[in-house]
Amino acid sequence: MKYPVTLIEGDGIGPEVTGATTKILDAAGAPIVWEKALGGLAAVEALGHPMPEQTLNSIRQNRLGLKGPLATPKGKGYRSANVHLRQELDLFVGYRPVQTLPGITTPYKDVNIIVLRENTEDLYAGIEHAITEDTVLTLKVSTHRSGERIARWAFEHMRNHGRRSILCCHKSAVVPMADGAFADAFETVAGDYPYIDSGQLEVDSLAFELARDPTPFDVLLLQNLYGDILSDLAAGLVGGLGVVPGANIGDKIAVFEAVHGTAPDIAGKGIANPLAVLSSGLLLLEYVGEQTIAERIRRAVFDVLEEGKHLTGDLGGDADTAKFTAAIIDKL
Ligand code: ATP
Repeated sequence: MKYPVTLIEGDGIGPEVTGATTKILDAAGAPIVWEKALGGLAAVEALGHPMPEQTLNSIRQNRLGLKGPLATPKGKGYRSANVHLRQELDLFVGYRPVQTLPGITTPYKDVNIIVLRENTEDLYAGIEHAITEDTVLTLKVSTHRSGERIARWAFEHMRNHGRRSILCCHKSAVVPMADGAFADAFETVAGDYPYIDSGQLEVDSLAFELARDPTPFDVLLLQNLYGDILSDLAAGLVGGLGVVPGANIGDKIAVFEAVHGTAPDIAGKGIANPLAVLSSGLLLLEYVGEQTIAERIRRAVFDVLEEGKHLTGDLGGDADTAKFTAAIIDKL
């Protein structure tokens, strides 16, 4: 049996990194049939929308997607393609595992954190008004229902994957209603899982503690904006945006993606690191239960990283995307 997966190549370095990823997954014999769909600038040109209904329907049907980074034209009234995708498909969990990788020199060893980000509410609801010429009002949306839903997902995931400790991080001292609702929902759900260690921390303290020593942290649960910022910070602790995978997960649908953007500064040069999208592809394989093949590819990646002979520029090497890709396939 093969899994049909909607593939959105994306903008900037997107086609380069998704191309490398599909090449490696195909070479490893991953049971996937890629169904290409448009998103970002290519979709605006062809279909007049950065996240067209055809693409959403393809994902709705396959229940699985892999996507490169998407750009949204600015100043033309489009909502961010990524935000639109998450909201339309109700992909309420932003899932970002951040782990130390072999062969990549970073200030800390043994980082193993999962950042969970509520993907559908907060300032990303996109409700803004100009009240006067001088004043704008932007609404932070926070419902108890969404807070409870992602908290329950978090605890269930931890229970099934042997994770032991979770912190809900917010700024309820300053935003008592919106952040307070999120924290309250978390506490309600935590009561059902007394065997999982849980607590709360102000998000600024979290930033400070992560920079000082990230190794004690396990699972972090945050609202949308804090999660966006802190997950990039966490990526910086283990080698940067080029290496950290991500997923947007809902009740029935999951779309896997890199944390990084379109990297216009290096797009088209063939030097981008495909590891983030590749690792997202491995998360996809694990999500559908293909652990063995995911583990085999991960082993090949780790071998290449440990050897250090074919690393891309962001990791301190001089290999281009093609060489790095070929080295992984060679190890397979
Ligand atoms: P966007 O506007 O799409 O968010 P950006 O340039 O603001 O793009 P990123 O694309 O995340 O943000 O890039 C931030 C920096 O990290 C850039 O210098 C980029 O070259 C680098 N970078 C991001 N992804 C990769 C990658 N896969 N390989 C190598 N470098 C990367």
